[in-house]
Parts: sequence; C-alpha cells; structure tokens
Amino acid sequence: VARFNPTVTTEKIEHISPLRERLDSLRGKSVIGLVPTMGALHAGHVKLIDTARQECDCVVVSVFVNPLQFDRQEDLSRYPRTLEADMTICRDRGVDVVFAPAAAEMYPTPPACSVDVGRLGDQLCGKYRPGHFRGVATVVLKLFQIVQPNRAYFGEKDAQQLTIVKRMGSDFNLPISIVEVATVREADGLALSSRNRHLSGPERQSAAALYRALREAQRQIANGERDVSTIITAAMAEIPRTDTVRLEYLELVDPGEMEPVPSIRGPVRAVGALWVGATRLIDNVLCAP
Ligand code: AMP
Repeated sequence: VARFNPTVTTEKIEHISPLRERLDSLRGKSVIGLVPTMGALHAGHVKLIDTARQECDCVVVSVFVNPLQFDRQEDLSRYPRTLEADMTICRDRGVDVVFAPAAAEMYPTPPACSVDVGRLGDQLCGKYRPGHFRGVATVVLKLFQIVQPNRAYFGEKDAQQLTIVKRMGSDFNLPISIVEVATVREADGLALSSRNRHLSGPERQSAAALYRALREAQRQIANGERDVSTIITAAMAEIPRTDTVRLEYLELVDPGEMEPVPSIRGPVRAVGALWVGATRLIDNVLCAP
C-alpha cells in the first residue's frame, strides 16, 4: 500500500492527560477527527481513516477493546489484539495520533453511570447481546469527552450502532458531526470484520451466505415484492443448511428507528446476524422499493 501521507509522524498515546495536552493546542484552529475502533485494523477501518484524513486536520484513531460491550467473556478474551500491526497501518495512512488506553485507564473504577439507549438497544443485536449497546454508547461518549473531536467516523456495517450513536449525539446535543462510511467487502460480498480472521477455510466459504441473503431481500424489494414474510423466506433460502451455520436473525427494519416493518412502503434496511462455527457475523444492506 502506498503511503498516504509520509510527512505525518504517528504518535501512540496510552493515557488521557497527554492526549488532552496534545489536542488542546489544536482546538478552535484545526478540525479534529476521531475514528473509534477495537483494533485488528482491516480495509474497512482504513476507509474510515482515509475519509477522516481527507476531512480533518488532525486524525485520532482509538484502539480499545471495550470490556463493557462484550456480553460473553469468551468473545472478549479471543478478540484479536494486534496493536503493532495497527500502528503500521495508521502510519501508512497518515494518522496523527493512535490513542490506545488500557482498560484501567478507561475504567479506573467500575462506572456508576452509563448511557441508557432505550428501545434502540433492545432490538436486533441487542436482543441477543444484552447490555451490548449500553456498553457501546458509554465508551463512545467517554471517547468523545476525552478527544472532543469535531467529527467522528462510523461504519454503515454496524448500522444499529451507527443509529444509536447518531441518536445519542442529537439527544445529548453533542457538538460532533457523525460521519457514516459505506461497508467495505471482500470480492464475494463478505463484509470485512476483525472477527473474520477466526474463520476456518470452509467457514469462510459459508460466511458469504449472509450477504447473499441480504442481497436477495434487496432484489425481491427492487422487483416489487412488498410482503415481508415472502421476502424473508426468499432471503433465508440463501443460508446453507449445515451444522456449522446458524442464522440468528434476519429482519427488515425501518432505517431510522430500526423497528421491524409490517410491509414495504419505503426504503428499509435488511439486517442479519449469522453464526458460522463459533464466530458471529453481522451485516446489512439498504433496500429501496
Ligand atoms: P470495530 O473495530 O469492529 O469496532 O469497528 C470500528 C469501526 O469500523 C466501526 O464504526 C465499524 O462500523 C467500522 N467498520 C467495521 N467493519 C467495517 C467494514 N467492513 N466497512 C466499513 N466500516 C467498517
């Protein structure tokens, strides 16, 4: 990969006060962009970083595997951690600062306060991962307070998360523009994810079925089908019936509130979660009638 901006030196900062000091001198004069990640960076993250690099004077990438948003200890302990490789990617893309705090820096004491995201957090992924979006919203709000960016970059891939972050921004009057970045995919449509590296060869083959199912829903809707259960049935036919693959949910929701729609009357988002072996994958596509 060609170096995006070889003149920038990327600083790794692990503590909040030196990060604040580094950024305070820029405030008011420069546009600060934040790209929150859990690390194990891939081309999806790179697209967020490159978008931020184009729009901001100073780009901060946070790398923090947030324990608060993991509902299963096993998922947290096996989440990939590749900070040195992440630093190399950030250097190549001209990132100014990588903020990589330890859990004790972010949570010196167990937090008493957290962000209640209401119904938005109980649906879809939230139904199967209790407390997940409370943990996400809480760490995002903390990162916003720590970095105080002008702009923050999130992927459409995690559409429910994006909806919740946007809503938190408007509900709490946060002076931060939330920028949405389209999903980056492999050639067969599989959305890039840090968890993809857990997939074995045969599992990787099966994993693309989720995107095929969502595309089938999109195709049905574009072709004029308006009945939700007909569309879902056609989409589910794309999921192979094997022991290693299990569909957790596949739904058509309205893009604003992420609530299931009774029928197709406007654009909807087809959203799904698929277990492939011990790995849980999520994806979504926007469908226009
Ligand atoms: P994560 O490190 O998985 O928490 O993701 C950090 C950010 O990158 C989130 O805003 C994600 O939505 C975004 N992201 C993850 N995968 C992709 C992808 N394949 N394409 C675009 N953005 C992505």
